[in-house]
Amino acid sequence: MTLKIPPHQHLKNHPEELPSAVETCLQAIEQAKPLNAFVHLLADRARHKAVEVAQATGQGEELPLRGMILAVKDNIAIEGTSLSCASRILKDFKSLFTATAVARLEKAGAIIIGKTNLDEFAMGSSCENTIFGPTHHPLDWERVPGGSSGGSAVAVAAGLVHAALGSDTGGSVRQPAAFCGVVGLKPTYGRVSRYGLVAFGSSLDQIAPFATNCQDAFAVLCIMGGKDEHDSTSAAYPMSYPTEGLKPLGEKLRIGLPKEYLEEGLQAEIAEVVLQVARGLEKAGHDLVEISLPYSKLAVGVYYILATAEASSNLARYDGARYGFREHSAESLQDIYTHSRAGGFGREVRRRIMLGTYVLSAGYYDAYYKKAQRVRRLVLGDFLDAFGKVDVILAPTTPTTAFKIGEKIDDPLAMYLSDVYTTPANLAGIPAVSVPAGKDTKRLPIGVQIMGPHFSDELILQVGCDIERLHGRI
Ligand code: GLN
Repeated sequence: MTLKIPPHQHLKNHPEELPSAVETCLQAIEQAKPLNAFVHLLADRARHKAVEVAQATGQGEELPLRGMILAVKDNIAIEGTSLSCASRILKDFKSLFTATAVARLEKAGAIIIGKTNLDEFAMGSSCENTIFGPTHHPLDWERVPGGSSGGSAVAVAAGLVHAALGSDTGGSVRQPAAFCGVVGLKPTYGRVSRYGLVAFGSSLDQIAPFATNCQDAFAVLCIMGGKDEHDSTSAAYPMSYPTEGLKPLGEKLRIGLPKEYLEEGLQAEIAEVVLQVARGLEKAGHDLVEISLPYSKLAVGVYYILATAEASSNLARYDGARYGFREHSAESLQDIYTHSRAGGFGREVRRRIMLGTYVLSAGYYDAYYKKAQRVRRLVLGDFLDAFGKVDVILAPTTPTTAFKIGEKIDDPLAMYLSDVYTTPANLAGIPAVSVPAGKDTKRLPIGVQIMGPHFSDELILQVGCDIERLHGRI
């Protein structure tokens, strides 16, 4: 791949070059088509926006995100355009409104170039469960980019856009970010409005940015975050984007290393990189503290009970009558529901609906759903205790580097275990970021994860910036 779009900072200083940068971007996406990162381009919309931003800037308007070209996962709404969720059931559906996060980014001068591939309804860890066919890892086309926001991760990693939006319910931004060697931030729950994000597990979902560095992720977060009257779970927490961007860490931190996250099941090279980063941060003046998060080992199990329970309820709205695909051979109302859902949803989504319905059913509610809610509280309790002793936590993002396409698709349990280190932060609602920090012997990227207390998004990104600096030296 030869074509690269001009850097965001360059376009920020030369907004008059934006219309030609959009053309370059579209050509680069065309060249990179075999990666299958994009499922829908918004070429005319982007061209129009580029002219608008260039003109507004020429007239002295201050647009903080001018010069930034973004991709958006195809489960986030943009009025009048595709919102397929990579599902047959929504294949031809067009969104009726724009997500608050997207509207705020566009208002600040960002240009949205297209919609990206994902696992159907954001369920998966590999970007293979999709009606559009798998997205490929940009460094090794036989491998997965991670999921479910694989298309957005690849768009950033392949240099096709400056940043991208995904959604993170159990790791769908951090895991592909780690696999592809880019930054992926899951904000504190409530920090970014979910209005316009197709619901999967509503108590876990967050719209989340990918970028090539922590500074850009911070800019996107600040602009799209904050209270939104369309989402009652959005937090009334002041969000503003300081013109100087993310400031360097001014203080010495206590950095927790959770022993349970470095035990068996973790690829040795990843453990080595986490320890290397820890030593680097210690040399830079921070204190390392060993901590224990014993309930995190139950997080995947709890996540797959709660996320499927919420999904089974959220996905009840796709009934063949109101949205998208309808099976026309159906002869009764009941048949419309069952045939449309059976034909419209893919295998993994059907599996989750069945699992979720089961754990919510009268006979099993106490044994599974209610118990999982209790354990969720214990997972959170571990973090609250830990944050009494440390400022942030350093951990691996994923147990392995990118795996082969097809390797786990028929083994859902193996696939679910890709989320062991990412689901705890979603259950606890805390912010977490994956930052590239090394490579394995196959030259595949390795990410490390920094987690912090609720609303410490800025702090974990500051630590991320330090790791970026260290990584240059490691
Ligand atoms: N891989 C996880 C799942 O399949 C996480 C998904 C997500 O974060 N959207 O549920």
